[in-house]
Amino acid sequence: MNTSTQADQTQVALRKAIERKDETSYLWTRGDTQPFVPRVLPHVFGDGRALLALSTLNQRPAYWVIRVDSSWDDDEIHEHMEGILNQLEEAFGRGRCGYSGNSLFWTKRERVGACQCQECSDGRIRARWPMVDDEGGRSWSWMKWPVGFNVEPHPVHSRANLLCAAAA
Ligand SMILES: [Zn+2]
Repeated sequence: MNTSTQADQTQVALRKAIERKDETSYLWTRGDTQPFVPRVLPHVFGDGRALLALSTLNQRPAYWVIRVDSSWDDDEIHEHMEGILNQLEEAFGRGRCGYSGNSLFWTKRERVGACQCQECSDGRIRARWPMVDDEGGRSWSWMKWPVGFNVEPHPVHSRANLLCAAAA
């Protein structure tokens, strides 16, 4: 099996394990709550052997799962956070108007007061999870690989583990 095929299979298996409807917690959106499906970022940072769960203040408890390099520590994750958010926005879209910062999760009526750009004034445009709304901040935590993956202990973080190098 060549390496890229194996890498693709890891990604497919991870999505299958992660991207299931969370029946116990609900994504709060203005006026209602809904179960959410966590999403795996397609982009892999470095060797992709460690996992993070990332959520934003406005969208928690919904979260994305991100594969990062096994050598990254907390500081490095902090340094890479802008890059991670950019990749999330590229993959899933941005839930904020680029001109006014209006939330596109709001209805057209709530948006047009502050901004009349094409997006804000188009009633058909309504942002939905997993689009990114990082206004107000975000939080992240280490995460273990789901059951069924070949893992080894993380050398530093007990709340994380690493995908075995041979399986990555
Ligand atoms: Zn706008």
